[in-house]
Amino acid sequence: MIKSLDINITPDYIYDNAYIHGLVSKKLKLSAHSIRHIEIKKRSLDARKSPVFRLKVDVYVNEEYKTPKKYIDTFKKGAKEKAIIIGAGPAGYFAALKLIELGIRPIILDRGKNVRERRRDLKAIQQDGVVNSDSNYCFGEGGAGTYSDGKLYTRSHKRGNIKEILALLVEHGANPDILIDAHPHIGSNKLPQVIKRIRETIQAFGGEVHFDTKVVDIEIKDGKILGAIDQHGKQYNAKAFVFATGHSARDIFDLFEAKGLLLEKKPFALGVRIEHPQPLIDSIQYKQKKRHENLPASSYSMACQVNNVGVFSFCMCPGGLVVPAATEPGEIVVNGMSLSKRDSPFANSGFVTAVSNEEIEALGYEGTMSNVDFQSDIERMMFENGDGSQKAPALRMTDFVQGNISSDLNSTSYIPGVYAAPLFELFPPFIYERLRQAMLTFGGRAKGYLTSEANVIGVESRTSSPIRIPRNKETLMHQDVEGVFPCGEGAGYAGGILSAAMDGQRVANAIHRYYNA
Ligand SMILES: Cc1cc2nc3c(=O)[nH]c(=O)nc-3n(C[C@H](O)[C@H](O)[C@H](O)COP(=O)(O)OP(=O)(O)OC[C@H]3O[C@@H](n4cnc5c(N)ncnc54)[C@H](O)[C@@H]3O)c2cc1C
Repeated sequence: MIKSLDINITPDYIYDNAYIHGLVSKKLKLSAHSIRHIEIKKRSLDARKSPVFRLKVDVYVNEEYKTPKKYIDTFKKGAKEKAIIIGAGPAGYFAALKLIELGIRPIILDRGKNVRERRRDLKAIQQDGVVNSDSNYCFGEGGAGTYSDGKLYTRSHKRGNIKEILALLVEHGANPDILIDAHPHIGSNKLPQVIKRIRETIQAFGGEVHFDTKVVDIEIKDGKILGAIDQHGKQYNAKAFVFATGHSARDIFDLFEAKGLLLEKKPFALGVRIEHPQPLIDSIQYKQKKRHENLPASSYSMACQVNNVGVFSFCMCPGGLVVPAATEPGEIVVNGMSLSKRDSPFANSGFVTAVSNEEIEALGYEGTMSNVDFQSDIERMMFENGDGSQKAPALRMTDFVQGNISSDLNSTSYIPGVYAAPLFELFPPFIYERLRQAMLTFGGRAKGYLTSEANVIGVESRTSSPIRIPRNKETLMHQDVEGVFPCGEGAGYAGGILSAAMDGQRVANAIHRYYNA
């Protein structure tokens, strides 16, 4: 018999299995030996008062626990049909795994390098300010999610099977804790190994992965796509092409526009990254002077409306690092990542506001690419304000709110370094004002949050795609060209690792239906 139970555990005992076993047997009034197994189904931390872990457990009473079947065991070899996937990010790789399961051979093309070689380019941008436009924090194997915080939660639960994606990550080496944690994360020291194993699975089942292969053109005939052409002129042919190229592949947006495929501009989010000392955020969230050793580095999630427009924290990286995420020389873009232990002394989070198409048009930008142009101009302006390196413009948070230039800045995890700059003038006034008002609001909600001990760093501009590539709701194909399947974040159907992976699976299912129609 399996009995489900909710239990609360203080941080002292959260990793003490004997204690949990004893507590469960006491609660169920059962002898300890009749409990064969306790499966933790969900683990969340409630820090509203004194921090306590809330566990949902299944208790196996006089019944043996059976290890669940692996998804990978259902995969097939020897597929005859193939599909081309452009982009080896979460959308591309999870589309590939699903295609294999459905008996279709994926051929993946990515402009960047494999996870291991990609590291050299990340070092070059961090330490020398050299941006490789094909291999950086956004481009290369694993996509933008590889050197990230590896947060794995999404609000779009209805869009796919989250459990399956998490299980597949575990089958490829991720910590099984991601299956139970309410806010799972992997960390960028562990993610590359998981991604490499996913690639090896794809190859073992007959798929192909081609790096340094940038798609620069497509062949279309009679309303159908016939091939994708790389930078060396090599053409890859198939019946179906998944475009999972992410929100930073501006050249793919240009290519689609040049080929006459419909694109739609879409509101996106823009702002800054805020970096606090982690102990300060811990003291706000846990109400303790020093964090208990069994409590994770704490995070926050805040949102408010300023003049009916949303301003919100985004992609929080507790115990993390701020990283340079530009994809072209001459841009400054920041983002955040963390290691699995989340043990840096800093807590960083995106702090962004929604920007509408109309607001961007009012600034004088026109046409389908107006939002991309605006995004790019802000990033270039942030760069041109500096000394030609990847040093990012910053202010102490209180100075940002007051419109003052900081005389000095707090220490930072951002390796290229930060310098004091008039961020309040670099953003269009309506954006600055929204960010400022929201900081005041959040500061009122959480005492200590609005502080001179935090740096506000510019510019957080790649949280979402400024373009949507519209697709048919049923077939998931582009309305203008048969065989083109826009997918993932760059096409405007995802916003994060999990939702991109789910969209990849959805598109793979659509290709299967297309091939069998
Ligand atoms: C630093 C950082 C930290 C992040 N942290 C998190 C996090 O903790 N949790 C979370 O959920 N999300 C996070 N994100 C966002 C997340 O990474 C993205 O939402 C997700 O990766 C989108 O997946 P995707 O597959 O749609 O596209 P991408 O991951 O962007 O992948 C696109 C791929 O396409 C390739 N490509 C582009 N153009 C071409 C071309 N012309 N030819 C061939 N290949 C091409 C690129 O090289 C890339 O590999 C983070 C992003 C960044 C940059």
